[in-house]
Amino acid sequence: MEMVKRGFLRACINRSSLDHDLIDNILTPLCAHHEVTKPVNDELKEFVAEINDSITKLSQSLTFVKHPISGKEYLVFAITDATPDTHNYPGMTAAECQYFAMILDKLGNQEDGHIAWNEAYSELNFKAVARPPSKLRMQALIQQWTEMGYLLEANDRLYFGPRSLVEFEFYLRFNFPETIKPCHLCKQLVLWDIKCSDCGRKIHRECIRKYLRTRSNCPTCGKKWTTRLSQ
Ligand SMILES: [Zn+2]
Ligand SMILES: [Zn+2]
Repeated sequence: MEMVKRGFLRACINRSSLDHDLIDNILTPLCAHHEVTKPVNDELKEFVAEINDSITKLSQSLTFVKHPISGKEYLVFAITDATPDTHNYPGMTAAECQYFAMILDKLGNQEDGHIAWNEAYSELNFKAVARPPSKLRMQALIQQWTEMGYLLEANDRLYFGPRSLVEFEFYLRFNFPETIKPCHLCKQLVLWDIKCSDCGRKIHRECIRKYLRTRSNCPTCGKKWTTRLSQ
């Protein structure tokens, strides 16, 4: 199983954000090759947790994250203390790295963590850069970052992708405290999901669903919870 773990981690590092179909496509031949039983469901979570234990000391993490916008669960490989400044790829210019930080900032300043397409190309202020990337290059970069899980395209808009939610959690919390707040119940970031109709505070649907089994008030403001839980 150790060889399978190593092979799987390598694939996760290469892809950085995997949905369950992709996990299956990677694990099936890997397990067959090493003649072990493929972990599924709870075993898969345990298998990933064991890999995670061995890489946390390297400031890396392998985490399952459910993205409320796509409704899918992803397995994300991330560097946990990352900021957009440390996010550098070989082959990316300084201006392109700046562009990445700008996109994250645009998303971070929005109440609901998404922007319209044209906003990805407008009002860009490149500092101390001789040659900003062309629009064609920006389009290619956005596509690349979407494939890597940093961004997510849905409803003709751009959202924070699953990898950003894990990798930049610390950065987002501290840089956008007005727009990005933790869920009152589980303390993880909550960007979408549902809001209390009284105080407007966002909360994870699953968290509030469990909470309301035994109570009827909003955990943030204490008033009676009236927002419908179904989508
Ligand atoms: Zn929560
Ligand atoms: Zn409230």
